[in-house]
Amino acid sequence: MMSSDPETDLSAGVAFVDGAYVPLDEARIPLLDRGFLKSEATYDVVHVWKGYFFLLNDYVDRFHRSMAGLNMALDYSRGQIIDILHDCVAMSRLRDSYIQMTCTRGVPPPGSRDPRDCRNRFYAFAAPFSWIANEEQRRDGIRVGVASVERIPPASLDPRIKNFHWLDLVMASYDVYGQGALVPILPDRDGNITEGPGFNVFALLDGKLTTPIRGAFEGMTRRTVIELAQSIQIPVDIRDIPFDELGRADEIFISSTAGGVIPVTVLDGKPVGCGVPGPMTGRLHDLYWQAHEDPRYATAVRYDRASR
Ligand code: PLP
Repeated sequence: MMSSDPETDLSAGVAFVDGAYVPLDEARIPLLDRGFLKSEATYDVVHVWKGYFFLLNDYVDRFHRSMAGLNMALDYSRGQIIDILHDCVAMSRLRDSYIQMTCTRGVPPPGSRDPRDCRNRFYAFAAPFSWIANEEQRRDGIRVGVASVERIPPASLDPRIKNFHWLDLVMASYDVYGQGALVPILPDRDGNITEGPGFNVFALLDGKLTTPIRGAFEGMTRRTVIELAQSIQIPVDIRDIPFDELGRADEIFISSTAGGVIPVTVLDGKPVGCGVPGPMTGRLHDLYWQAHEDPRYATAVRYDRASR
């Protein structure tokens, strides 16, 4: 691997492209990669917090499931992918980092329109940790709006495959910016809520922690929150949530690798519950961050690899 000169500042990020490590802002992909031209790509994002990966194996397993779902496979083994993720973080020396692994369909031979002719490509990078909401918003709660734009239906694209089709999520964001919301929640065709750009949704309804059963990505943070809630005997209900039911929730929060558990205090311009982050949200937030110190969840970054 590229030896990292201790004098070089790579804290803006390190990428792995075409078998080599480069500073993130120098990383390039070929214009003809169908990942770029046709959004034919899958990716996953794991994070490092205080020098430890969170649920590293689980994120990499999910990445492999997504690749299989898109008929993609890489020349890199699972172990090599894990090593590359370690290397990107180690070389950047970041202690809190956002690490993306991406598989694209690749560049077709000239004249071919058949995706099976492509050799799939692997890209990865470590960047500074990025948050959906700033510190004040995470403490006081965020404003969200239910968009009129519907989430792409599962019958068109299985939402469990993490993908680059973000335009419904982005157009839904424009839909709610006018009401001062930070992010949107998208409904499905039947008026049930699904998710938003980069996050899942939870509501405290009738004393139960409730989250949509269909139409959304199965977030790692969502899974962790469900496990943590069950560990402290909070009843969990995974079911359809009609969007007007969300309006009577006592608490709402979103969950994401990009920030963990983030309280929602305003929904469509109206206060959620008492209009301040609720106690259940606070408990789950704290448990989520405590889990980062638990060896069942945390894997130390191999920073010494950068100096080999
Ligand atoms: N939903 C969508 C559409 C996402 O893109 C993401 C993450 O990027 C999530 C939910 C949350 O998933 P995770 O908790 O694994 O970050």
